[in-house]
Amino acid sequence: MKFADLGLSEELLSAVHDAGYTEPTPIQAEAIPQVQMMRDLIAVAQTGTGKTASFVLPMIDILAEGRRRMRMPRSLILEPTRELAAQVAENFEKYGKNHDLKLALLIGGVQMGDQVKALDEGVDVLIATPGRLMDLFERGKILLTGCELLVIDEADRMLDMGFIPDIEEICSKLPEQRQTLLFSATMPPPIKKLADKFLSNPKAIEVARPASTNVNIQQYKVLCTNRQKREALRYFLNNDDVQTAIVFANRKTTVRDLSKDLEKAGFAAGQIQGDMDQASRNKELARFKAGEITVLVASDVAARGLDVKDVSHVFNYDTPWHPDDYVHRVGRTGRAGAKGRAFTFVTPEDAEAIANVEKLTNQKIEVFKVSGGGSKQDDARGEEPKDDKPAHKARRGGKSRDDAAKPERDDRSPKGGRGKPATDEKPAADEKPAKSHKPASKGRKPREDSEPKAKAGEWEGPRPSFLDHSAT
Ligand code: AMP
Repeated sequence: MKFADLGLSEELLSAVHDAGYTEPTPIQAEAIPQVQMMRDLIAVAQTGTGKTASFVLPMIDILAEGRRRMRMPRSLILEPTRELAAQVAENFEKYGKNHDLKLALLIGGVQMGDQVKALDEGVDVLIATPGRLMDLFERGKILLTGCELLVIDEADRMLDMGFIPDIEEICSKLPEQRQTLLFSATMPPPIKKLADKFLSNPKAIEVARPASTNVNIQQYKVLCTNRQKREALRYFLNNDDVQTAIVFANRKTTVRDLSKDLEKAGFAAGQIQGDMDQASRNKELARFKAGEITVLVASDVAARGLDVKDVSHVFNYDTPWHPDDYVHRVGRTGRAGAKGRAFTFVTPEDAEAIANVEKLTNQKIEVFKVSGGGSKQDDARGEEPKDDKPAHKARRGGKSRDDAAKPERDDRSPKGGRGKPATDEKPAADEKPAKSHKPASKGRKPREDSEPKAKAGEWEGPRPSFLDHSAT
């Protein structure tokens, strides 16, 4: 199928052509005609499937007809995080470059003044996180009665973050006669319920999970203890031909500590987590995309849906508490046909979490093995540290450790009685940096200068001690 077969306008086809796309992805081929027919839609699709364009493209043509009105956005896209909202806005700008459409981005972490000004002038598309939207609504700065098209993106993530009551409230403020499109990576019962309540005779579409079926990603679990994680991570960064890596941790404090620790060890590391303001997050992401930093330590909320090309490795420093997060995390590598490697550190306490991942993805993740002898970690270290100074200053948020240890939520805390963010389960035992640790490498980039030691999940060579655990 070609984009031209989808009945999109010439202006849109030209923008799609300029974006370099030749064929619609399966979700686009299925969803676009439904949206054009003004049907409600429930789409089970993940980031990486091209789902954003599957609603942005038809929306642009629909919105090309009609006029903007002050403070009354004509359509609304709800996103769980600021990054995703910003990414969708970028998509709108890219595909809508030949149209005269105005959009406003309403997200936490940026000044409200400009956002309100844009709304006052009238917008065709409002892209918002639920918390910030409700804030503005409650202040009377916005009217949702002219909003005839609603997109609820990443609905399962909204659920995890406790946003469902906000979404229900927002839905009740929109006109009843509207088109609603709901996208979700999974369909847990509360999302089904939401769809039953607020969608009318929706068309259901499901496309394959990209990460779980992506043959380009080699996935391994590294059996270790919490105390061994730092050592293990450095070891992999030094020895697995890492070009660029995203390291995921379950808590903001771990993200902060780990990024600092890696910087101290000489890695070009940065961080992205929910306590950082939007400007800092964007800056860090830009540095990663530009190759100024090669290791990005990230939390799930901040990194959700990030579209960065050529990430060679994903490390799950913590086994994710939610199996869906595994799919999202691992999907940051192996994008656009590239090969990628994903390592998940699994401690004995993670047995249930990793079993859930394997159940969801319907695959047994291979245990990483070293086929060589049983020598100690010290033997396996390549280089000695030159000094202990951090390569550059780590970014630190202004909140207390206790605050930062709380699970992340993008905008504001849930009100009483709301769904508890699902990340509030158990603390990682490894919250404090291992002070006595010696850095494994001082190179600004991990192993740029050497041949990869790893081969298809097996190292031949000295066996680092953290891997002894895997023998048990
Ligand atoms: P998404 O699932 O919306 O996060 O999109 C994932 C990636 O696929 C983004 O980098 C898009 O730019 C890209 N993409 C979207 N549609 C297409 C297409 N038809 N062909 C190739 N790449 C696409």
